[in-house]
Amino acid sequence: MRDTAVIIVAAGSGTRFGAGMPKQYHDLAGKTILRRTVEVFLSHPNVACIQVVINPDHRDLYEASVQGLNLLPPVAGGATRQASVRAGLEAVAGQNPAYVLIHDAARPLVDHKIITDVRAILATQPAAIAAKQVVDTIKRDEDGLVADTVDRRHLWQAQTPQGFQFGPILAAHRAFAAEDLTDDAAVAEKAGMKVALVAASADNMKVTNPDDLDRVRRLLGVAMDIDIRTGMGIDVHKLVPATEAVLCGVTIPSPLRADGHSDADVALHALTDALLGTIGAGDIGTHFPPSDMQWKGYDSSHFLKHALQLVADKGGRVLNVDITILCERPRISDHRDAMVARLSELLGLSPDRIGLKATTTEELGFAGRKEGIVAQAIATVRIG
Ligand code: MG
Repeated sequence: MRDTAVIIVAAGSGTRFGAGMPKQYHDLAGKTILRRTVEVFLSHPNVACIQVVINPDHRDLYEASVQGLNLLPPVAGGATRQASVRAGLEAVAGQNPAYVLIHDAARPLVDHKIITDVRAILATQPAAIAAKQVVDTIKRDEDGLVADTVDRRHLWQAQTPQGFQFGPILAAHRAFAAEDLTDDAAVAEKAGMKVALVAASADNMKVTNPDDLDRVRRLLGVAMDIDIRTGMGIDVHKLVPATEAVLCGVTIPSPLRADGHSDADVALHALTDALLGTIGAGDIGTHFPPSDMQWKGYDSSHFLKHALQLVADKGGRVLNVDITILCERPRISDHRDAMVARLSELLGLSPDRIGLKATTTEELGFAGRKEGIVAQAIATVRIG
């Protein structure tokens, strides 16, 4: 049932995040912190409406941040957090929600579980807040020296969302409007409401300092500065009559084989060029000149291993490769599994990271006339 109003407190104007911009409008992996926070509540099945409380000076930032989202028009915050929340409560009062959840814009990692857990308690109790039990030993100091060790067994750190039956919390905020209490639970306590504690995920942190953004990014699974490279390679060889051919490091029976440099494994040559392409290291001919007779009949897996070593020297790791072979002969399909197994061994990749396909060219062109064979490869590498 959509019986719950949400108030997102985003009126803070702290600018220690730089760019003269409050933290809730800073980017967090492609969306602002505020937008991420709002989207979690918007997608929750019990949420009826969302009221964001903003600093009117940041109206443009707000509009850009939540563009396209179905929210109530923003209301202006007051001089204190408590005044801002009260403005939000008054703004949604006309909608008569059964419950209200009040949440800091700067806790973007809030999840559906804590929203559900907090709201569920409100069916039987007036107030419930997300909180984290204190696990570190707590010291009390006097003049910078430990005076004593505090019993932490009953200590919790209050977080948000903080949920309330709507009527009682609105009345409490009105009654204690002159106070300056640091959270809504304190307003409720002041009014004599019983407040339940609900253990939240350890990830439900508040972004307070610029360093916190990096931590939140890690928790979101968004690595910073990911250096992903893509390289491609193409190789063409002439076909000549034979009894066997080498492709993808596997020798197979075939009436035709590629002629040329080394064992003429056209697929491994294209793949080697793709890998060299990811690090701007030229092509296979740069490293193994065809004019050099020592490569005659050479096992092309050594070219591939050389390219892999160069990639590794750059701190690179191959994520996947994809190869397409164009020819009428040899027929690849009977040998595909063996080829993928060999590539898996050479690349150190699981088979689901290795694409290998073959196609004819419908008897068109030099491949169609069985004069030649083409291989294309693409490789993706992560550096660092
Ligand atoms: Mg070649």
